[in-house]
Amino acid sequence: MSTSTPTPTPTTPAGDCLFCKIRDGGIPATITYSDERVVAFKDIGPKAPFHQLVIPREHVGTLAETDAAHEALLGHLMVTAAHLARQAGYGDKGFRVVMNSGVGAGQTVFHIHLHVLAGRSFGWPPG
Ligand code: AMP
Ligand code: ZN
Repeated sequence: MSTSTPTPTPTTPAGDCLFCKIRDGGIPATITYSDERVVAFKDIGPKAPFHQLVIPREHVGTLAETDAAHEALLGHLMVTAAHLARQAGYGDKGFRVVMNSGVGAGQTVFHIHLHVLAGRSFGWPPG
């Protein structure tokens, strides 16, 4: 087991948040889906032939910050991910959804987002 000090996960104020700016149209993105609770757009650095992100309109920094009040919203993120994958033809072929929480898990943008990935095979366990 590692004894090194873990890197603390930063807190991003909503005003400085890249994904809040994409939500508000201040930074361009290829929006693929939008409703009153979530927005989806293409990942700028795709890790698979199909790679989109689904974010809540509400700024929430990490999954670790969520509680029972977020259950419906988190469920809606998942259902939207399935909708996007089905719409792109991956419902039967298979797709992967990933949410990194915190620096230690590889999160780099601190506004929660579901990665929806498809179009290639995926290894397990993930890297
Ligand atoms: P994570 O490392 O889980 O926080 O994922 C952040 C994701 O955001 C990465 O896959 C990036 O490629 C993606 N990303 C960063 N900046 C943008 C942007 N301006 N538009 C779309 N996706 C972005
Ligand atoms: Zn945000």
